[in-house]
Amino acid sequence: MSANPGLLYVVCGPSGVGKTSLVRALVGRRQSLSLSVSYTTRPPRPGERNGVAYHFVSEERFAAMQAAGEFLECAQVFDHHYGTSAVAVARSLAAGESVVLEIDWQGARQARDKLPGCVTVMILPPSVATLRARLGGRGDDSTVIDRRMRDALAELGHWPEFDYLVVNDAFEQALDDLCAITRATELARDRQRPWLAANLPQLPDRSG
Ligand code: 5GP
Repeated sequence: MSANPGLLYVVCGPSGVGKTSLVRALVGRRQSLSLSVSYTTRPPRPGERNGVAYHFVSEERFAAMQAAGEFLECAQVFDHHYGTSAVAVARSLAAGESVVLEIDWQGARQARDKLPGCVTVMILPPSVATLRARLGGRGDDSTVIDRRMRDALAELGHWPEFDYLVVNDAFEQALDDLCAITRATELARDRQRPWLAANLPQLPDRSG
């Protein structure tokens, strides 16, 4: 199936839902997928390495990239700008490598508009109570947790725009679900045409 271009997967979900861990585990388990490294104006957190977690850039550099049309999608999320390199994604897809974007709902909308064939997934918490417990796990006061909950529910409210919904209750089950979505997408009939042509050219097409 190497004649096929790669597939683009967009994974969204609010903070506290576990999407970063899930997406990292997904690309670890499925060798055909790689994770896109976004550009951001946010300063690095302890332990975050430039070029690995993100490409950390200045506001000026980000604005110049945006003006030059270098982003497949970009958005302001809370106080910072984030964007996905159009060239990096296009290069991977052209080489037959599938790419996973872990971005917010605004970016998902833009990616869908530009690449309608992309597959979008929203990660959901099993309940509001669980989400609140996960968002409040750092000993913060209830005003801070209330604000995080509002932000999280605003992001989750975009669920009807997504192709798939995955509930992250038990991590391994959610990971299996993400693997199943990506594998099923690869197995779709039309994606198998190049393989059929190369390996089973004798097969008649009786669809007409
Ligand atoms: P954080 O700063 O906590 O790493 O990420 C904050 C939010 O920005 C998360 O919801 C994350 O998914 C989103 N984000 C990260 N990279 C991108 C990107 O390239 N584009 C968009 N639209 N959102 C992003």
